[in-house]
Amino acid sequence: MDLGISGKRALVTASSKGLGRGCAEALAQAGVSLTLNARSAGPLAETAAYLRGEYGVEVTDVAADITSDAGRAEVLAAAGHVDILVTNAGGPPPGIWSDWEREDFIKALDANMLTPIALMKACLPVMAKQGWGRVVNITSQSVKSPIPALGLSNAARTGLTGYVAGTSRQVAPDGVTINNLLPGIHATDRAVSLDTGVAEAQGITLEEAAVQRQAGIPARRYGTAAEFGAMCAFLCSQHAGFIVGQNILLDGGGVNATI
Ligand code: NAP
Repeated sequence: MDLGISGKRALVTASSKGLGRGCAEALAQAGVSLTLNARSAGPLAETAAYLRGEYGVEVTDVAADITSDAGRAEVLAAAGHVDILVTNAGGPPPGIWSDWEREDFIKALDANMLTPIALMKACLPVMAKQGWGRVVNITSQSVKSPIPALGLSNAARTGLTGYVAGTSRQVAPDGVTINNLLPGIHATDRAVSLDTGVAEAQGITLEEAAVQRQAGIPARRYGTAAEFGAMCAFLCSQHAGFIVGQNILLDGGGVNATI
């Protein structure tokens, strides 16, 4: 399917690895020029070089912490004109309700709620003015079905979801869509780190922890970054202009709900 977005410019934050990288690659495949971002310069430069070589699109890479004001300013300046914004950042650490103090919540809110909101505030005016834009926020299945050990994530991402629900309706008349993609468990470094937590807590191996978590997913496997990226690119396509303010789960059936 021709997504109809060849020649557009996208900013994909937190995109040297994992789901962000999957989104960047699917957009590159559709002919979209990219600005990529991550904190570590090495893996970011490798990803940028790979995407340039493989798909022949322009790729700018900016090593910066997207959750800081200075990092966001640097990334936005390098990105310039943005038609497509995909927001992402690392997820908060696991724990239990009694662990978390005010500063832990502030950190989580900064990374997983206020950073995507700041990026949208920066990019939406230009999108609205030109009468076309696409925003996809990478959130989590925890928005629909809480993960008790990820209380910081549950809280921050739900706040972002509420903001998007209203804002997406405000910018839709200008041809701009905002939607959220909710990953269930995907085979990325983040999944390995959560598997490691389960393995340590239960005294089992990493492989046993992964098998145990996969048993809870009807598809009996983790998702891939490529599958996730394909959905992201579709939401950014010309075909998705009537999809507004939605929360789309990619979880292999993991969330047991009728709708
Ligand atoms: P990942 O494989 O660990 O990749 C994270 C990417 O984000 C890396 O490129 C990392 O590079 C970059 N990054 C992290 N913090 C950053 C920051 N402050 N500024 C700029 N770049 C940053 O993680 P993932 O699995 O793709 O997860 C992406 C998001 O989806 C996370 O918020 C995660 O919590 C959420 N999620 C993931 C899953 C899953 O199963 N994978 C499920 C639900 C939700 P650097 O480290 O070099 O900065």
